Amino acid sequence: MQDDKAMMQQFLPKEVISFLGPPGAGKGTIAQERAHNQNAAVLSTGALCRHHIQTQSELGKALDAYISQGHLVPDELISSMVRQWLEEKQQSSREMILDGYPRTVVQAEHLIKMVSELTDCSLRVVLFEISPEVIIDRLTSRLMCSNKACQHVYSIKKEGMITQCKKCDHVLERRADDNVSVIKERLLVYEKHKEALLAYYRQHQVKVDYFRVETLTFSQMFEQFDGLINKGASRL
Ligand code: AMP
Repeated sequence: MQDDKAMMQQFLPKEVISFLGPPGAGKGTIAQERAHNQNAAVLSTGALCRHHIQTQSELGKALDAYISQGHLVPDELISSMVRQWLEEKQQSSREMILDGYPRTVVQAEHLIKMVSELTDCSLRVVLFEISPEVIIDRLTSRLMCSNKACQHVYSIKKEGMITQCKKCDHVLERRADDNVSVIKERLLVYEKHKEALLAYYRQHQVKVDYFRVETLTFSQMFEQFDGLINKGASRL
């Protein structure tokens, strides 16, 4: 069965899929599910930034100054991280998911260029839609595994006040930027860039799929996402 699946996957088109959406919309959850069940390569630019912050490198300190305020990291810096990752993954991966990149038109310009220069993939975008009230409710009850290789997410509402990760036993913590004032700033930043990004994609014939997630359970979300993705992408 597993062999059949691997064989089928060889014939599917190679794709770079960008997840666009506000924080807390479930982008990371879907990305992890695709990594696990579809062998997708996943880059969460936010997780990569947090990893650098934890190592307390010079880069990490620079990133922390932006992230702790809810501001975006400069385009050139984030795009160079993505370039490095695409170069590394494009040979071995059929599906490459960018969770939280691009977030600005300049980053989208960078990505279109990188995809055509570095890969033989199509590019598509999935826009996650969810209301701000639900986001604030979700993020203020979110806990994340402190193990940077895991970063599994839990909800206090669903799980109660748990303290340890069920996957790797590391301690759970709140993300430093999951407090109401920083969440509101992140939402403002997201809304500010969203329409310009969508207009840019329309202009460049990049396919954007709208994915309304608010009322879906996890299994409905995975199933509907599969249906959406199987509809195919546009070629650059
Ligand atoms: P996330 O984990 O996706 O919510 O990202 C957390 C934070 O990382 C954001 O609020 C930004 O400060 C930074 N970040 C992540 N991805 C990007 C990006 N594509 N462009 C700029 N900043 C980013």
